[in-house]
Amino acid sequence: MDRLWAPWRAQYIRESAGAAAADPGCFLCRGLAAPPGEDRENLVVWRRPHSVVVLNRFPYNNGHLLVAPRVHQGTLGGLSGDDLTEPVETMRRAIAVLDRMLNPQGYNIGVNQGKAAGAGLPGHLHWHVVPRWDGDTNFMPVLGQTKVIVESLHEFYDRFAAELCFESGERAAAPQVAPRAGAASDAAE
Ligand SMILES: [Zn+2]
Repeated sequence: MDRLWAPWRAQYIRESAGAAAADPGCFLCRGLAAPPGEDRENLVVWRRPHSVVVLNRFPYNNGHLLVAPRVHQGTLGGLSGDDLTEPVETMRRAIAVLDRMLNPQGYNIGVNQGKAAGAGLPGHLHWHVVPRWDGDTNFMPVLGQTKVIVESLHEFYDRFAAELCFESGERAAAPQVAPRAGAASDAAE
């Protein structure tokens, strides 16, 4: 591949310099610190100034997103200003995209704060956004088939990134992804 013009690298370098509080043991911090060119692999689907959206690698349902502040902070009380408010705004916009893509009948939206509450990543607060349909099941029936899940996650990633570009005009995490012509017609899968 020819050399890419990659203006986001400058932002990445600036962010890396200021990310002293990031925890390398935290997959959200690792995803944010990685070059945006690795966002698809890391399932980082939307970077915003104070928040990020990541696909859950082990989804409870189709479209299961994690929305987090960029800062490595484990409690709601530890967040303030844009770190507190932008994730909620991001969630609202991500849900608008999911509505169009998947047309769910409801959502579970919630935070597990602390290990005792079931947080799998207690150091970095994140909201789970899980689309729900009447009669759906809580768990994917094919947990043994990791490869299949990963492939469908990347397919979902591309569709979500394309929808996000379409909705907001704001560049999603994957600049190489162009909106697909058939994106609207397969929303009812
Ligand atoms: Zn973190």
